[in-house]
Amino acid sequence: METRQLYLFDSYMKEFEAKIQRVDGNEVVLDQTAFHPLTGGVAFDIGYLQDRDVTGAVLRVEINRETKEITHVLDDATAFKSGDTVKGAITWERRYRLMRLHTAAHLIAAVMYRDYDARITGGQVDPDQAKLDFNLPRTDREIFEDAVVKANMEVQKKTQLKIYFLNRDEALKIPGVVKLAERMPPDVKELRIVEIPGIDLQADGGPHVNNTAEIGEISLLKVENKGKTQRRLYFTVK
Ligand SMILES: [Zn+2]
Repeated sequence: METRQLYLFDSYMKEFEAKIQRVDGNEVVLDQTAFHPLTGGVAFDIGYLQDRDVTGAVLRVEINRETKEITHVLDDATAFKSGDTVKGAITWERRYRLMRLHTAAHLIAAVMYRDYDARITGGQVDPDQAKLDFNLPRTDREIFEDAVVKANMEVQKKTQLKIYFLNRDEALKIPGVVKLAERMPPDVKELRIVEIPGIDLQADGGPHVNNTAEIGEISLLKVENKGKTQRRLYFTVK
C-alpha cells in the first residue's frame, strides 16, 4: 500500500501520528509519514518512532519507487506491532539543513542554466554538503564562483516559494517542466510543482524552505572535473 507522504504537503512537519501497516524484522511500514526517504537526490531523515512506551531510532528511510511504500529501518522494532498507532518525530536539525541545501541547489542550477547554458545532470544533497553535476564544456572555476555569488543574491531577495499541484496535462504545458514530467510514470496524474518566482520552476517531490532567506549564505567548497564536459560543484550553506 502506498504510504501517504506528509512532507509533500508540509516540509516543516516535525511530529506526526501514523498506523503501522507492517513490521518485517527491523523495518516498519506506516500508512503515512513525515520522514523523507532517500529519493530525488536528497538524503533520508532520521529520528524516532514511538509505539506505546517503546521508542525505536529510525536509522534509514527508503521508498519503493513502484509501490510508493516507505520503509523506516529501526535499530530495534521487536516491540512494534502491525495495527498500532505510533508517534514519529524527525531530527529537525538534519532535515532543515537538507531543506536549505536543496533549495540552494535550485538557485545554483537555475543560474547555471540561465547564464551559462549548463544543464544539471545529477546531484546529491547531504546534511553537511551538496554536490551538483553539470554539463559544461569549460572548466573555469570562475563560472561556479559567479553562480554562487548570483545564487546568494537570490537569497537576499527573500523570495517566498510557491508549492502547488498541477494535473499532468497542465504541468506538461510549462516549458522546462516537460522533460522532468515525461520521466515520470504515466500513472502519475498530478505533479507537485516547486516555484521560486522569478528564477526557477520544477516538478519536484523534495522538501524545501518557505523563503530563500532561510538558506543563509551559500559557499563554494570545491569544483571537480568528471570527464570531458562534466563538472561537479560541491557547496554548503552557513
Ligand atoms: Zn527541489
